Amino acid sequence: MTNLGLPVPPGFTVTTEACQAYLATGREPDGLAEQIAAHLAALERARGKRLGDPGDPLLVSVRSGAKFSMPGMMETVLNVGLNDASVVGLSRQAHGGGGGDRFAWDSYRRLIQMFGKTVCEVPGEEFEHALDEVKRAKGTTNDLDLTADDLRGLVGAYKQIFKAHTDREFPQDPREQLDLAIRAVFASWNAERAVLYRRQERIPADLGTAVNVVAMVFGNLGPDSGTGVAFTRDPATGNQGIYGDYLANAQGEDVVAGIRNTVPLQELERCDKRSYDELLDIMARLERHYLDLCDIEFTIERGKLWMLQTRVGKRTAAAAFVIAGQLVDEGLIDLDEALHRVNGAQLAQLMFPRFQLDHGIEPVATGIGASPGAASGQVVFTSARAVEVAGAGKPVILVRRETNPDDLNGMIAAQGILTSRGGKTSHAAVVARGMGKTCVSGADGIDVDVPRRRFTVAGQTVVEGDVVSIDGTTGKVYLGEVPSTESEVVRYFEGDLDPERSDDALVRAVHRIMTHADGRRRLAVRTNADTGADAARARRFGAEGIGLCRTEHMFLGDRRELVERLILARVDDDRAAALAALLPLQRADFEEIFREMAGLPVTVRLIDPPLHEFLPPLEQLAVDVAVAQERGEDVAKEEALLAAVRRMHEENPMLGLRGVRLGLVIPGLFAMQVRAITEAAVAVTRAGSVARPEIMVPLVGAVQELETVRAEAEKIIAEVVGESGVEVLIGTMIEVPRAALTAGQIAEAAEFFSFGTNDLTQMGWGFSRDDVEGAFFWRYLELGIFGISPFESIDADGVGRLVRIAAEEGRAARPELKLGVCGEHGGDPDSVHFFHRVGLDYISCSPFRVPVARLEAGRAAV
Ligand code: PEP
Ligand code: MG
Repeated sequence: MTNLGLPVPPGFTVTTEACQAYLATGREPDGLAEQIAAHLAALERARGKRLGDPGDPLLVSVRSGAKFSMPGMMETVLNVGLNDASVVGLSRQAHGGGGGDRFAWDSYRRLIQMFGKTVCEVPGEEFEHALDEVKRAKGTTNDLDLTADDLRGLVGAYKQIFKAHTDREFPQDPREQLDLAIRAVFASWNAERAVLYRRQERIPADLGTAVNVVAMVFGNLGPDSGTGVAFTRDPATGNQGIYGDYLANAQGEDVVAGIRNTVPLQELERCDKRSYDELLDIMARLERHYLDLCDIEFTIERGKLWMLQTRVGKRTAAAAFVIAGQLVDEGLIDLDEALHRVNGAQLAQLMFPRFQLDHGIEPVATGIGASPGAASGQVVFTSARAVEVAGAGKPVILVRRETNPDDLNGMIAAQGILTSRGGKTSHAAVVARGMGKTCVSGADGIDVDVPRRRFTVAGQTVVEGDVVSIDGTTGKVYLGEVPSTESEVVRYFEGDLDPERSDDALVRAVHRIMTHADGRRRLAVRTNADTGADAARARRFGAEGIGLCRTEHMFLGDRRELVERLILARVDDDRAAALAALLPLQRADFEEIFREMAGLPVTVRLIDPPLHEFLPPLEQLAVDVAVAQERGEDVAKEEALLAAVRRMHEENPMLGLRGVRLGLVIPGLFAMQVRAITEAAVAVTRAGSVARPEIMVPLVGAVQELETVRAEAEKIIAEVVGESGVEVLIGTMIEVPRAALTAGQIAEAAEFFSFGTNDLTQMGWGFSRDDVEGAFFWRYLELGIFGISPFESIDADGVGRLVRIAAEEGRAARPELKLGVCGEHGGDPDSVHFFHRVGLDYISCSPFRVPVARLEAGRAAV
């Protein structure tokens, strides 16, 4: 902003390199002190004042400033340079506007409070209590009612608090204050909440923060001063207009913390039209400069506007799409750039349901729709309780008067956040929007009583554990659980809304960007689906085939008994009878799926999990048999079952008799499935449709396994296909590390590979996929061994390397080899970009993730 010639108070910046050096060694790098002295001298010359000068002090703010915005996560100290002497000088200088005494002592008490809390870790509540105490004695709740004398007394109380906690006097040397404040900002890079926020937002941990030391300007110099926060467009909807909050006679932290209720920015036009017009002009310039929505912080000091901060603003998912579309219309960016401005996580959010309110359900309170979505859950009042209840699998709504950065854990755990104070720019609102959490802020009809764990609203009392529903779009709060409906975006994907005719700006923007993504992407997008209904939905969502149909899901329900017969069969005839009974059922399943996916490839995987998953659990069965024996019942059948379960018991079933191993060991099982798939394809084709089956063999580790299955399958396929013209491909999953490392050999027997990155991660890391996430991943995350579970996002360096090797060696052996991925990573945005880079042909994910995968595949290609 300084380079643009905007009115920014002068200052200087300590770089992130200095911070990194400090964090690595625990002390300031050589030369830093001298450089700060030189820049401070220049700043003093520019302002014509000296830091902390008793006659007319220069005061500075010391703020963090990281590469990626981390709102409220790091520290700021304002009013550095005030001490027992300079407070008098400040008071004298401020007298021009009247009320100089009050202003100076208020600034001083703020410095001790912020410095104490941030730099010396004095508990913030102690200062709050002391302030409340003075207000109570005065019989007021408004800070502005306190006089200079009250505040002078408060400074005394604050100094005692400071001394009691630090064993030293509040530092009077301005330069010492500055150095300690800079150090505290450096250290705040590693504050718990900052670490957590970075992990959540996937911001690298080693960047460090810069420190901006800037001459203070004051918004608390009287009624012609004030401070505010604004957005150049509405961060909730993307609509153009003036969006911001203003607070007269206040300092910045009052607005951001939502401590006092603000007025809409438009009010400023009434009381200070010149500053208002200048501000609008600056906002337009900033948008043209950054080509994006900007958020700004500003202060007006006695009628003079100062810009304190700007950054490309956080926005809701809906606003991201709408604004990207607008900027294209305004000729500021092109469609490729628009693709960069949105992402799959945002699209996923837009697909969340919304409340269905046609049942005469009335809200009990209305606040500000700070972050959209519809959330219902049990009310909790503390971050710790939110984590606890959510950990037990129950949705929670975190209710607070206002949130502060220490609530981050609870905000992550909660389904939604409800506060009774604060505007669209309060901490709760900013953080919730960034996380995609539903949030209603400033619902001042709610009276929150945290110690008693309850709130009252409209004459009713809601206690911890009661259910409420909050609508982050409208800001409305409802008691009880409100039923919800599908989002417009989902209706668009379902084909129920014509985007060209829709008057919904969001639907039009999504359509436009999705169309561009589809035109750009090189990866095809398939779906993982085991039923006709899932296949049909995925197709409506844009799936171009099925990448994984897990057949084991077809063996549940009443068919379990047939599988049990198959497993228990002692002689070939019994087994053949069980398989013959399963064949028509399987055939019917596949016919339905082929019909839904007419013309598109359908990868059907032969049965994969250990068979004992279809039998009763060993302990339970043993107990049942023992009890029945005790009663003298005839248990011959149950005993046979028990013996079979014992026989098949494995200590490590995921590494045991499963996947291709089943096909090699249980005669006729794979053959039955191959026959059912091929017969279904032939039947669908004969009925005039086009079936494109691809038979996939799971858990292959050696080409010989695949060759054995292939030889048997080819015979059956040849026999069934006859003259029908159906073409059946045979391929394999690459999900065992050995398969990845011998992919060149395996490709000789496979027409396609599909990477099973769930098992590949399990076996690549040696992490049991069913156990580790709850057991110890928290520690790995804490230690930064990984920033996100490798089951969620592909571990590019390790497991990803296996994928890369297999893709390269497989293609080298068979250039026309088709390559895809069907593990959970197929729907994860970062992983999609990785698979694009590796050169796969397609990704496959659950039906609901298909639009996300399409968008991310498009983004990966531009
Ligand atoms: C995989 O392992 O990635 C896979 C898709 O198979 P499943 O999840 O069924 O083991
Ligand atoms: Mg697997």
